[in-house]
Amino acid sequence: MRSAGTAAVVVAVRVLGVMTAMIKLVNLTVCYQRHPAVHHVSGEFLSGSLTAIVGPNGAGKSTLLHAIMGLLPLQQGQIIHQLDKQHIAYLAQQTRVNRQFPLSVLDTVNQGHWQKLGLSQKLSAAQQTASLAALNAVGLAGFAQRQVNSLSSGQFQRVLFARIIAQDCPLILLDEPFNAVDARTTHDLISVIQVWSAQGRTVIAVLHDFDQVRQHFPHALLLAREVLAWGESHDVLSADNLRRAKAMAESWDEQARVCLR
Ligand code: ADP
Ligand code: MG
Repeated sequence: MRSAGTAAVVVAVRVLGVMTAMIKLVNLTVCYQRHPAVHHVSGEFLSGSLTAIVGPNGAGKSTLLHAIMGLLPLQQGQIIHQLDKQHIAYLAQQTRVNRQFPLSVLDTVNQGHWQKLGLSQKLSAAQQTASLAALNAVGLAGFAQRQVNSLSSGQFQRVLFARIIAQDCPLILLDEPFNAVDARTTHDLISVIQVWSAQGRTVIAVLHDFDQVRQHFPHALLLAREVLAWGESHDVLSADNLRRAKAMAESWDEQARVCLR
């Protein structure tokens, strides 16, 4: 079920068409301990677009998602968007997700509603139904009462996608959603992403499989701490661009540059 607020945002996106920027980055630099993780990034994620962020390890991909979420101070530049935190759904890299706590699959999906409700309020019957429908959509009908710590990593990733369905947000950020996930699950979850895209949501996913990006993600941002290319995937993922990204990663010196301010 979609809340009135989210429906309004998605409808507005559709009316305005795909030329509107959902997120605009202006000369963005983000540092850790004064060392830039991403620097001088400018560009736009268009409303309703489906974009892959690719680049070598340490390129700043996760950092960029965290910055868009508003979780990191900006050293320089701006991130311009009209979204409240509750309008952004975020899936962290699996290595950063703790699932060793006793929680059922249904409770985990229900967390998607809590972002809007606040923890103290009770879920409505419609929201409970929406959670079960979300589980059905990710191929986990019948798993509602299972404990998440008994699931395979692929099944757990399906649960997290169901939670995003329950969140019902116009902007969805996914950090390496298919790592440690089997081919069948990847295939099914790409279908879920395609549904989100067809619904007019803006989806940004950090990915490593270039063929997957070419096939399913019309836009790509190639990041190597700075923007190497940003546009249509087939252009961005040229052999020349990928060579440049690799060469830049090989020359990174973790201690070399320090932000001046
Ligand atoms: P990617 O997701 O592309 O692999 P990250 O955004 O995780 O890259 O990291 C970019 C750079 O910032 C790396 O050099 C990484 O070591 C560094 N970094 C990431 N998180 C932190 C942190 N919390 N503290 C200090 N440095 C960090
Ligand atoms: Mg990362």
